[in-house]
Amino acid sequence: MADEVQLAQDAQAGEDTIFGKILRKEIPCKFIYEDDQCVAFDDINPQAPVHFLVIPRKAISQLSKAEDSDEALLGHLMIVAKKIAATRKLDKGFRLVVNDGPIGAQSVYHLHIHVLSGRQMHWPPG
Ligand code: AMP
Repeated sequence: MADEVQLAQDAQAGEDTIFGKILRKEIPCKFIYEDDQCVAFDDINPQAPVHFLVIPRKAISQLSKAEDSDEALLGHLMIVAKKIAATRKLDKGFRLVVNDGPIGAQSVYHLHIHVLSGRQMHWPPG
């Protein structure tokens, strides 16, 4: 089993997460973007030449646990993702990924959008 899949299988939903610690500044992290609703930072284990994460400040564990009232926030995360992509001149494109739950290979139970670029993406994903 691939390491990231094992990590996801072992992950526990509902626990405080490393992203919570990052948001509370308990562990250092260089933000590439922040506003009152979300922050973005480079993934520590990049899967492409460009790989950053956009996360809400609100502790939503995963997309399937988001509420109807989170609709504007979720839209905001995508708008921020594409604005950062523009500042990084990703004019040839990029990919957004949201992993949900064990089958989705989610390893950190704080909702996040992966933004990947800088190489040709393929389909289907693994
Ligand atoms: P997922 O498997 O979709 O839950 O993605 C979690 C992502 O968080 C993985 O791509 C990890 O490499 C990334 N990650 C874990 N810890 C950190 C950290 N301290 N800083 C940046 N990215 C991290």
